[in-house]
Amino acid sequence: MKYIIGNWKSNKNHLEVEDWFQKFSQFFVKEKATSFNNLEIIVCPPYIHLFLTKNLRDKYKLPIKLGAQDISPFDSGAYTGAISAKMLSEFVEYVIIGHSERRTHFGEDDKILSQKVTMAKDASLEPIFCIPDKTSFIPDSISIIGYEPVWAIGTGKTDTPENADGVAVFVKQKNPGSALIYGGSVNPENALNFLTTKHIDGILIGGASLDPIKFWEIIVNASKI
Ligand code: PEP
Repeated sequence: MKYIIGNWKSNKNHLEVEDWFQKFSQFFVKEKATSFNNLEIIVCPPYIHLFLTKNLRDKYKLPIKLGAQDISPFDSGAYTGAISAKMLSEFVEYVIIGHSERRTHFGEDDKILSQKVTMAKDASLEPIFCIPDKTSFIPDSISIIGYEPVWAIGTGKTDTPENADGVAVFVKQKNPGSALIYGGSVNPENALNFLTTKHIDGILIGGASLDPIKFWEIIVNASKI
């Protein structure tokens, strides 16, 4: 099973979300005969679009799951502006924690990331825990680890599949039973290079997931592995 995860980051208004789903669903209708059973497809929209994306996913009967891009380190209550795990659990099954943009722009450190993981797990949300390199701290019992070298995110430069595969071996040895996914400038042209390695269990896609055609191309190619 391979994870195909789209991270929309801070992009799209509600009309653009509707347009994305409308286009994306047409591909699924045309590709009726294709089985996507070997894939876990997850889309992570901004918080404000979670209600809409859930409705659109259900309306078009799409075989995709939803994830959040972040989570509050606190429970529900007097935390202005925060979105708690309990609130998220109405909409998503997964949550990205520790993305390098959260670490860099929002100053999130290992302590706060551990708190977020605890919150997610208490609400039965599956963390997708991102690390910038193989030596980064990873909390206990994380099932999905995203290896994303900072210099590869949004730059058009990727790690080599060989090196990323080596990172997967290293990280999985230290975190037995976990899945390792690669992220950093993945697109329809290079996605299979990572997905066909021995130890990489999926990909995390930023920029290319914003375009339903590119995201679809990656999915349809991955479905044939
Ligand atoms: C990401 O958002 O995690 C990411 C890897 O972005 P991009 O694919 O645009 O490099």
